Amino acid sequence: MARPDLIAIGAYKPWDIEAMESDYTLHRIPEASGLAGLAQELRGRVRALAYQGHKGFGGAEMDLLPELGVVANYGVGYDAIDVAAASARGIKVTNTPDVLNDDVADLAVALLLAQGRRIVQGSEWVRSGQWAARGEMVLNRKISGGRAGILGLGRIGREIADRLAGFKMDIHYWARSEKETPGWTYHADPVSLAGAVDYLIVALVGGAATRGFVSREVIGALGPGGVIVNISRGSTVDEAALLDALESGAIAGAGLDVFLNEPNIDPRFLKLDNVVLQPHQGSGTVDTRKAMGQLQRDNIAAFLAGRALLTPVN
Ligand code: NAP
Repeated sequence: MARPDLIAIGAYKPWDIEAMESDYTLHRIPEASGLAGLAQELRGRVRALAYQGHKGFGGAEMDLLPELGVVANYGVGYDAIDVAAASARGIKVTNTPDVLNDDVADLAVALLLAQGRRIVQGSEWVRSGQWAARGEMVLNRKISGGRAGILGLGRIGREIADRLAGFKMDIHYWARSEKETPGWTYHADPVSLAGAVDYLIVALVGGAATRGFVSREVIGALGPGGVIVNISRGSTVDEAALLDALESGAIAGAGLDVFLNEPNIDPRFLKLDNVVLQPHQGSGTVDTRKAMGQLQRDNIAAFLAGRALLTPVN
């Protein structure tokens, strides 16, 4: 029997390509814009698509694949995929939740520590010879025991909160509804959350519903001692307001893994000494990326076998 076709959009690692090639007739394209260039016969019969990337995948792309039944996203955040358009066409969308929680939460904590303890500047102090030439570097900031505010207490947000509780922090959070969190303080309003904490860690979903959620008002409420860590999506923060606050000292600093217009981020960030910048690598360990690829393929296999999807979105 002929192996099923699978279109894979994105830049997959060799182990993912090998695994997909062992089960499917694989058709790889770097971006969705390459779909129209695939043979019409293939486009007319393919039922499964593996998606990786942050560029939009919407109704126009889906309409090029009339038999498409599943879009399996590589990543928990599926804001690049127009889920409403998929549902309207009877297409299932899957994602890769949970397997990446630890890595993303670890990076959030690392960003907080790196910003407060000036880890990047400290490394440069050693490498540049300034330690030997000038002695002790500038003193920095105690992180343990502070007040942490988690904006979005979902799967990843909860892991971040658990870690920061281990740093003897007082945990506050915002979510759409109060959760079962003994000892943690719920805020029904993000401005109230920001006003109550030293560190605001953003762990919201991306997409239209949360665009600019960390508004100028929220950033203002954090105040001059405040630090923002964002591991969610660049879109969740009013980036112009964040840059203004960082430049003027209206907040103390930021640790950022995500930006608008990645990877061509606003050059204003590059001039700032009070930010730690990362290239959207929250889930970027070999172990976790392998687990994400496996879950993506398990969803595709389940769909093609007519079994229940493991992690459906719609
Ligand atoms: P999750 O469990 O679904 O949690 C998402 C949080 O967002 C929840 O607190 C949820 O509130 C809130 N939320 C959902 N819809 C909302 C809306 N319409 N308005 C306001 N808040 C809303 O997701 P997760 O697995 O923790 O992942 C969170 C996000 O992290 C992903 O969507 C992705 O964008 C990002 N991420 C980034 C990286 C990276 O490399 N930096 C890696 C993985 C994930 P409720 O609690 O009230 O439901």
